[in-house]
Amino acid sequence: MDCLFCKIVEGTVPSTKVYENEHVLAFQDIAPAAPTHILIIPKKHIATMNDVTREDDAVIAEIFAAARHIAKEQGFDEAGYRLINNCNSDGGQVVYHLHFHLLSGKKLGPLLS
Ligand code: 5GP
Ligand code: ZN
Repeated sequence: MDCLFCKIVEGTVPSTKVYENEHVLAFQDIAPAAPTHILIIPKKHIATMNDVTREDDAVIAEIFAAARHIAKEQGFDEAGYRLINNCNSDGGQVVYHLHFHLLSGKKLGPLLS
């Protein structure tokens, strides 16, 4: 399968890893939209939010746990952060391997512009 984020999981495409466990990987976004911009992905290939099933409940919980862990470890949990998923074309999804953007490091503006 020709999937960029699967290649990052495999290590054939390099990334700057921030956090990893059995189910999820977090790494720096290559084009940060905020001072902190980390992508959190399942290691399992899931194309979009629409493809998540109840069998993935544990994986989704791990993504949220990773976000909380990273926020606390990097010290922006109290200041605040944003966790975003873009789904399909109108949602602005470009890479079709499920991912959540963890954004922080400044006062973020209104969500929609
Ligand atoms: P999307 O628009 O699909 O929600 O977000 C895809 C994200 O992946 C973008 O923020 C983009 O900067 C990031 N990205 C694209 N290619 C690479 C890459 O090769 N490495 C990393 N670390 N991030 C990437
Ligand atoms: Zn993939």
